[in-house]
Amino acid sequence: MNLTMKVLVGMALGIVVGLGINLTGLNGAGSFINEFVVNGGFHVVGKMFVNALKMLVVPLVLFSLITGVCGIGDIKLLGKIGTKSFALYMLTTAVAIATAIGIAASIGIGKGMNATTTAEFTGREAPPLSQVLIDIIPSNPINAMAQGEMLSIIFFAILLGISILMVGKKATGLVELIEILNEVMMKMVTLIMALAPYAVFCLLAKAMANLGMDLLGQLIGYVVVLIGILLFHLFVTLQLVLKIFSGLSPRIFLKKIRNAQIFAFSTSSSNATIPVTLRTVTERFGVNNSVASFTVPFGATINMDGTAIMQGVATVFIANVYNVDLGIAGYLTVIIMSVLASVGTAGVPGVGLIMLSMVFAQVGLPLEGIGLILGVDRLLDMVRTAVNVSGDAVVSTIVAKSEGKLDVSVYNDPDAGSLNTDDVHIDKDVEMEIASALEATNKK
Ligand code: ASP
Repeated sequence: MNLTMKVLVGMALGIVVGLGINLTGLNGAGSFINEFVVNGGFHVVGKMFVNALKMLVVPLVLFSLITGVCGIGDIKLLGKIGTKSFALYMLTTAVAIATAIGIAASIGIGKGMNATTTAEFTGREAPPLSQVLIDIIPSNPINAMAQGEMLSIIFFAILLGISILMVGKKATGLVELIEILNEVMMKMVTLIMALAPYAVFCLLAKAMANLGMDLLGQLIGYVVVLIGILLFHLFVTLQLVLKIFSGLSPRIFLKKIRNAQIFAFSTSSSNATIPVTLRTVTERFGVNNSVASFTVPFGATINMDGTAIMQGVATVFIANVYNVDLGIAGYLTVIIMSVLASVGTAGVPGVGLIMLSMVFAQVGLPLEGIGLILGVDRLLDMVRTAVNVSGDAVVSTIVAKSEGKLDVSVYNDPDAGSLNTDDVHIDKDVEMEIASALEATNKK
């Protein structure tokens, strides 16, 4: 069985076991299952795995981006890649939210519903655009890396890459070293992914066991419409965009993106999924690292199609529940605000709701309305993160194709870059060679 199949099995088993625990009520407060299994074993293994993925993000982005910039070797091309990906990210997000508002409004979702707020929601202020722009330039790059501030890290890495290029010949040793470090980081991704089947099982079993089923029943309309639009965006809109802008086969895309989607679904974080997205896009789709190293982390931060869809549907839903008529102007503001809000906020679990509070404040919808949908957001976050990550991969592929940085034969090869658990091994000969080299240095 290859790794994707194993992860799929882990995912399915996790969902079944988690739902089983939930529906049978085995996870009642204080029960053994709740204390030691769901919030014990499942929680610990899942969190350890997410930490392992997050651990890779900063060094991976840094090394791969510096390698990428040095690989392009042409600053103008870098600007073109930046502009194109930014434009496509904004365009797809705008289309996503417009579709969401259009469909949700025509269905009249939430109309006549007499819902009472079930949870307190205190909105946090999203950073104003001016601050986002200022913060792109890190006053202290080490601090930016420690905090995982993606836009600042991207900025610093690009500048470093350009400076290395300007130093020229003298820096070749450094470029080689960073290239090697990048390769080593990619190997670490492979290593950690080998554990995915077990971790994904734990993450999903815990998420499903803790799902508020009673709420799900009450909000079933909202959940079904939202998931329907998310799937529509993933299977129709994004695939049309891919076909129109690159001519590549959506069928192959959908097959190969599965791994990254499962990771996004299990972790609810586009940021934590960066290592997997980067690997999928470069090794399975054939996107050159010079493009992917920029577009993937950039997309994980600024591109959130799934989140925008949630915001569109939630706005219509809550406006209807509270009988507020937003009108065309109101909805246009929602579209603009949502697209802007997605730029400065990183892809971490639950950030979509925080961004939503900013949108609500702008159009005058009651913030406590968000408390209404809070209980089901955990599940929806999983689905929309998978859509977010798919959007990043679509745009990366399109931009690479348009710049001649896509190896179409890799894209079309169904087995290219597919991962087997036996990939995680150390060549005995190499092991011996390194050991004897070390011994020789020690003797000296
Ligand atoms: N969890 C999402 C992501 O990481 C963001 C959100 O919608 O909350 O992409």
